[in-house]
Amino acid sequence: MSTTKIVILGAGYGGLVTAIRLQKKMRRKELDVTLVNKHDYHYITTHLHMPAAGTDHHENARVTISDLIDERKIRFVKSTVRQILPDEKKVVLDEATLDYDYLVVGLGSETETFGIPGMQEYAMSIKSINSVRFIRQHIEYMFAKSKMEPKRKDYLTFVVGGAGFTGTEFVGELADRIPVLCKTYDVDPTDVRIYNVEASPSALPPGLPIDLIEYGMEVMRRKGVQYKLSTAIKACTAEGVILGNGEFIRAGTIVWSGGIRGNSLLQQAGFDVQRGRVKVDSCLRSYQFSDVFITGDCSIVTSPEGTPYPANAQIAVQQGYNAARNLLQMARGKEMRPFVYDYKGTVASLGRGDAVGLLKVKKVKGRLASFLKKVIDARYLYLIGGIPLIWKKMIRKQKSAT
Ligand code: FAD
Ligand code: NAD
Repeated sequence: MSTTKIVILGAGYGGLVTAIRLQKKMRRKELDVTLVNKHDYHYITTHLHMPAAGTDHHENARVTISDLIDERKIRFVKSTVRQILPDEKKVVLDEATLDYDYLVVGLGSETETFGIPGMQEYAMSIKSINSVRFIRQHIEYMFAKSKMEPKRKDYLTFVVGGAGFTGTEFVGELADRIPVLCKTYDVDPTDVRIYNVEASPSALPPGLPIDLIEYGMEVMRRKGVQYKLSTAIKACTAEGVILGNGEFIRAGTIVWSGGIRGNSLLQQAGFDVQRGRVKVDSCLRSYQFSDVFITGDCSIVTSPEGTPYPANAQIAVQQGYNAARNLLQMARGKEMRPFVYDYKGTVASLGRGDAVGLLKVKKVKGRLASFLKKVIDARYLYLIGGIPLIWKKMIRKQKSAT
């Protein structure tokens, strides 16, 4: 009998954890597992707001996949997935086509622009190592350019669209970075403007308690961030953004963090999607193709009350555990176990040394919350790479600080 072929698409939180758990738990040659990812590194998305603003080096937000995967157990293919053919049980990559018995899709999300004119063309977004390198370089370029054309104050105007968690975390870092850039480029800090434009009446997700939201916004305002609340961006141009109230903000930098949608490959493959994401059954399988497991931002999992859980790394990691366990259960002829989300809480950074969040229902803010965020990050590194990875990252961070 041939060995069951598992193909995992994407080495993000969901896909990588599925692979690592299979590597750890499967017997020798029990499954034939292939992990496909477009880069040879895993990026720690939860960290990307820092290298985007330039408050940390992007190397601190990525890990080489071969450092995490034992290639005697898991085959790693560095390639881009072009097409999923669920009827034929095949996936088309750049250079090859793979067939599978079971597929795990963990291809993450794409930026949701809601069809806002110019957003795709003129705004940048925090998505990957390459996108954050670009944002960082662009910010510095704007500072350099402002010295060549001192009348162009718009070069020093930064617009961040959306004040959810991503927008808030980035704005916090950007505000921390501005004094350093002003010093480096001899720029008067009063010439710099940071606008965070948000369609809803407050920043941060409405699920957070109001006192934490107010705390977060107060911290940002103290750092010099100007909010435009209950104001949607209606269009984006090469020169700036047009707001719902008709106002035009001329800006050299526009970063869009207005939302996400699932990877478009799923819709192209014929899966029923809602904003690009697929609603999955209790064992994380597609209702249309029971041999396809879907994890992370590509999936929609609902609470027992029927409300979709937010797309985040926490749920993606737990889905990775569940998918790996169920693949092994199936291989061993045992019953699969349903996925149950264990919500541990949420902590959002507000920049250096400050954060807000909930641990289950307990509110945390300030230095304690910031420390907890570091603990959460370290716990994830431990989960994927053990103490050696934490150690390696600590040394790397020390080097980049000196
Ligand atoms: P991802 O982690 O995005 O991984 C997808 C993988 O698929 C990537 O490796 C990508 O390269 C690969 N891929 C994509 N397309 C292809 C293709 N065609 N071919 C081959 N490979 C491909 N969540 C939290 O819980 N806590 C946080 O603190 C937090 N902070 C965040 C901060 C920022 C700035 C952002 C943007 C998000 C944050 N999130 C956070 C959300 C969290 O990062 C995502 O929910 C999580 O990354 C989703 O995991 P995933 O496995 O679905 O996809
Ligand atoms: P989001 O959808 O949570 O927030 C987008 C924000 O943009 C919303 O507040 C929305 O009102 C606003 N918006 C939409 N259209 C707009 C417009 N035209 N003009 C102005 N504002 C507009 O997206 P996100 O913040 O990128 O988060 C994506 C997912 O990642 C979420 O599930 C989030 O929980 C998760 N995440 C978590 C953390 C954390 O836990 N620390 C950090 C980042 C992201």
